Amino acid sequence: MIYLKTEEEIELMRHANRLVGKTLGEIAKVIAPGVTTLELDKVADTFIRDNGARPSFLGYSGFPNSICASVNEQVVHGIPSSYRLKEGDVVSIDIGTVLNGYNGDSAYTFCVGEVSEEVKRLLKATKESLYKGIEVAVENNRIGDIGATIQHYCEERGYSVVRELVGHGIGKEMHEAPEVPNYGKRGYGPLLRNGMCIAIEPMINMGSRNIVIEKDGWTVRTRDKKPSAHFEHTIAIHNGKPEILSTFEYIEEVLGEGEF
Ligand code: MG
Ligand code: MG
Repeated sequence: MIYLKTEEEIELMRHANRLVGKTLGEIAKVIAPGVTTLELDKVADTFIRDNGARPSFLGYSGFPNSICASVNEQVVHGIPSSYRLKEGDVVSIDIGTVLNGYNGDSAYTFCVGEVSEEVKRLLKATKESLYKGIEVAVENNRIGDIGATIQHYCEERGYSVVRELVGHGIGKEMHEAPEVPNYGKRGYGPLLRNGMCIAIEPMINMGSRNIVIEKDGWTVRTRDKKPSAHFEHTIAIHNGKPEILSTFEYIEEVLGEGEF
């Protein structure tokens, strides 16, 4: 069942997702060599609560923290820990909020200090593929158009698309129908309609697409231990066009545009 949102609901989704964007901006301020991912979790948790919302990941199927922090070969669902970020790492930060009953969800892969050109290219392509996918999320296109666009963009550059994890509908629940794969066929899948809210979140690997789940039961990493990147926006199909509800503008205020 795909829930189409009313204007009022989309407005509430804007608030929840703007808060996620602001929280990612707070993370951008403190990411540096020597900082632990648990410290990042604390920054996000405090900021979300200070803004009258709740971190949606905390306790979700038993997840122990308020953000996911996935370093280097970790794809997604990394558990914040005492690991100290070091120069050259990349760390994907995924954040969810619930504000006034509606969910925000967005993710960004950050560089820690100076990162190799090769890895920066992966980040750049993944972020660009997200926007390419969003561009085709217009009324009367299909979910498969989004996935096919992302897949083509990344594979053309020699990267691979994780299959086991996908984007999703979002609203009162963090995960709603439909699934939004980052691969697929043009013209296939559910029809995109006004009022649909979806999280699009390419997870793109430098090496093979294969993944494994670590013993902690959460952390997803690449099987070949090559780096992976993850960027996510929540969007609404509104007046026939995609409206990005989350935002990277608070990150860009800190890091500047075009950091990679
Ligand atoms: Mg997310
Ligand atoms: Mg998501």
